[in-house]
Amino acid sequence: MLKELIDQFYLENQKNKDQTKFYITDAGKCPRSVFFKFKNAPREPMDARILRIFERGENIHRSIFNILYRLRLGVVTEIPIPSQEIISGRADAILCVGNENYVLDIKSINSMIFRNMSAPKEENVYQIQLYLHFFNIKKGILLYIDKDQQEMKEFFIDYDEALCKSLMDKFNALKDQVEKNILPARLADYPRNWQCNYCPFKDVCKMENGEEYKKQTEPQKP
Ligand code: SF4
Repeated sequence: MLKELIDQFYLENQKNKDQTKFYITDAGKCPRSVFFKFKNAPREPMDARILRIFERGENIHRSIFNILYRLRLGVVTEIPIPSQEIISGRADAILCVGNENYVLDIKSINSMIFRNMSAPKEENVYQIQLYLHFFNIKKGILLYIDKDQQEMKEFFIDYDEALCKSLMDKFNALKDQVEKNILPARLADYPRNWQCNYCPFKDVCKMENGEEYKKQTEPQKP
């Protein structure tokens, strides 16, 4: 009884906003799934358990912010990138250590991935590179937290102008496809790519075979 009520609470309180801009977190994601998000294509319903996992991640972020403030590292947190036409996002924090400014991006991950991690995830590097780009800051820190064991690993990232240009070019190309209703191709290793396993648009992805997106726009289901 209680379990069902709690699940229902999470499902009823999730934020389902129409997407009008790219998010920085879309960098590195399958362009076809981002396209479906823009088109409000039918998606698999969200699981309340996943929403609780997201919430736990947010709580871990808040605890780290609290420590950073107490360390007096000149911290500002949850800072939106300067407004522009195509992309929006919010960096976890900007801090100052040894007279150097850093963008901080915090990621909470499970123990198994954490244990085997010797380099930052590619998509996380893309995201922090874009924060560096929009804030005009040259250095970033990706801080990974093992949410089961509370261990931490940090990786220092230097701004890479060429990478940011290629990421922005990809966003601009996808914007063009969204506007012209041209469906991006499936990932080259579809359906084995790990993103396909977790993709809420699996069904519509499988059904849509042409270049032009033909599905009727339907509201997202909770
Ligand atoms: S199923 Fe795979 S290829 Fe299709 S939209 Fe999702 S992530 Fe992309």
